[in-house]
Amino acid sequence: MSVLVYLEHADGVVDDSSLQALTFARSLAGAAPQAAVCAWVEVPRALSAALAEHSVGTLYVAEAEVFASYAPRALAEAVAELAERLGATAIVGPGTERGNEVLAHVAALTEQPFAANCVAVAVSSGETHVTRVRWGGSLLEEARLAGSPALLTVQPHAIVVETTGDATPAVETFAPALSEAAESLRVVERVGDASGGVSLADAKVVVSGGRGTGSTEGFAVVEELAGLLGAAVGCSRAVTMAGWRPHTDQVGQTGTKIAPDLYVACGISGATQHLAGCKGAKAILVINSDPEAPILASADYAVIGDLHAILPALSEAIRAARS
Ligand SMILES: Cc1cc2nc3c(=O)[nH]c(=O)nc-3n(C[C@H](O)[C@H](O)[C@H](O)COP(=O)(O)OP(=O)(O)OC[C@H]3O[C@@H](n4cnc5c(N)ncnc54)[C@H](O)[C@@H]3O)c2cc1C
Repeated sequence: MSVLVYLEHADGVVDDSSLQALTFARSLAGAAPQAAVCAWVEVPRALSAALAEHSVGTLYVAEAEVFASYAPRALAEAVAELAERLGATAIVGPGTERGNEVLAHVAALTEQPFAANCVAVAVSSGETHVTRVRWGGSLLEEARLAGSPALLTVQPHAIVVETTGDATPAVETFAPALSEAAESLRVVERVGDASGGVSLADAKVVVSGGRGTGSTEGFAVVEELAGLLGAAVGCSRAVTMAGWRPHTDQVGQTGTKIAPDLYVACGISGATQHLAGCKGAKAILVINSDPEAPILASADYAVIGDLHAILPALSEAIRAARS
């Protein structure tokens, strides 16, 4: 198959979800060379070298002023144009919110069906068969994807990035023919992140608070521990619904899906919609006053008690151990 992979980047660094998509795409492309597309105002010289270990045949870089910010329709038009020129039989992207949005636009432009959040793919007798995550992770669906090119995104954190090969891909830039509509849909302003720098999606440690924190002020003990651990602060939907934290902090089915080395869940009961966002964590520490809380079934470690007593004690112990 001729597979085109849509890559996302931040300041010239391809993100992990896109590298996962590249690994996934190899299972579809077999030994055939892959092409990747990113969009830039300028070509970052270091990028092709960074992709050397990911078996990218050619790195196609779409260049246009509109790509200075996120512009999903323009990205989709560039990807669709390139796919047609290359005769791509599949387009694979990261299953991030933006990756899914761009591929949805590609689907609309090419009038092809689109399978989001895939974890496996196989082609037999010319048909593409996918396994994909549905209903916030509570269901794995096996589906047959009709049409060409096959449009897929890859469930974040479901695929371990594998490196292979050591050949810097050739870089080819092109100026896509963008419609007027493409230019009208783009990010025009960014507002600072309240979490203070550590990205929730990529953090190695996340300390989350639920309704058990009791209030906006109740998060002070969560923030204190997160600060000591260099962690990102997360929360449950009960918290965002109450207005104690912004939606950007929410972990779960309708929030951010995370896969940190350690997830500390404080005063969170463990609803399936919450667990859908954190079950990729390598270890889960639960702090909850209820010994029957459902989240304990997912815990590797647990402390039963009042988080307002336990978290300050934990922070104090960390400080003492470091002094
Ligand atoms: C379509 C849909 C999508 C959803 N998406 C999400 C999502 O993305 N993310 C999400 O989180 N939820 C989501 N939800 C909501 C979800 O079903 C739960 O309602 C929510 O996760 C509950 O939040 P919570 O655990 O903080 O609160 P609760 O369920 O009220 O649990 C509070 C917990 O705190 C403990 N506690 C109380 N006081 C203390 C204390 N002092 N010390 C220690 N522990 C204490 C209690 O024992 C309890 O276990 C969704 C729901 C729907 C219907």
